[in-house]
Amino acid sequence: MHALFWAPYANEAVVLLYHQIDPVPGAPYSITPRLFKEHLDALLQNGYNVISTGELADFLEGKILLPEKAVVITFDDGYRSFYRYAYPELKARKIPATNFIITSRVDKKIGGLEYLTWDEMREMQANGMSFYVHTDHSHHRAPAAAGDHPKSVLAHRIWLPGENRLETEEEYRQRVADDLAAARNVMESQLHRPATQIAWPYGEHSEPLIEIAQSLGYRFCYTTHGATVTAKTDPFIIPRLDVGNAGVMSADLIWRIQYTAFKERLISRPVLRFLYNLYRWTKRVVLGLRNAAGTEKPRVLLFSISGNQSCQTLPGFR
Ligand SMILES: [Zn+2]
Repeated sequence: MHALFWAPYANEAVVLLYHQIDPVPGAPYSITPRLFKEHLDALLQNGYNVISTGELADFLEGKILLPEKAVVITFDDGYRSFYRYAYPELKARKIPATNFIITSRVDKKIGGLEYLTWDEMREMQANGMSFYVHTDHSHHRAPAAAGDHPKSVLAHRIWLPGENRLETEEEYRQRVADDLAAARNVMESQLHRPATQIAWPYGEHSEPLIEIAQSLGYRFCYTTHGATVTAKTDPFIIPRLDVGNAGVMSADLIWRIQYTAFKERLISRPVLRFLYNLYRWTKRVVLGLRNAAGTEKPRVLLFSISGNQSCQTLPGFR
């Protein structure tokens, strides 16, 4: 089992997700420059091949095969810390990375958070980095009904409190199309490259959202559930593994990548998939019984395999 777990995976990729890099540890969705450096060194020392999102797109289109142990590095939100702390380390190691940009926040400082400038992006683009769309101005959540749990405004119709009604399907589609078109247009006019990739804010997506994105020419869309990318992956729901927080030491990073690939190997075989699901089901039942009996305090899981927690609203964003 040990050998199977650590076996190099081939023709698959694990896409990593980061957000903010901050020398002051402890902020949510943030790691220190030092830990990020350790992540990069751990990847290289353990024989991982970092490929670009462009190469991943070629793989998904069947144009190329991937090297063994392929990893992709992505960032969300376009924080300026990417230029200050990540870029010099990536460039020194000749490692490509992609940042998904909130175009309406370029060159701004909002709630103490600084965002990249177009000049910085152009400089980094000339040195192996790439920049694609996150959203133009829809990086927030809103309820779909009065008093409802807020959801991504791009993935869902929203409640219009002033008019005391849900927006119509037509209004929703127009709002989303305007946002995605504006983001793509400004990125292409500033960076002079096709901006056909997008990371869904909060990883949330919906059928209409994918349909609208597709009609506007977006071809590769990223979400936040942790799984490997294979030749069969739906290019509109590309999974990513959220590793950009202080809890992910470099040894954890390597373990999580291998676990993700190992899980893919398991669930690709029907018998093993059945056993894996049985294990998860049994674990859930046992934990449920323990919780019901009061013998087990609710635990915070180290990470969630299918979690959709990434890219939360950071302090000062509201
Ligand atoms: Zn985001």
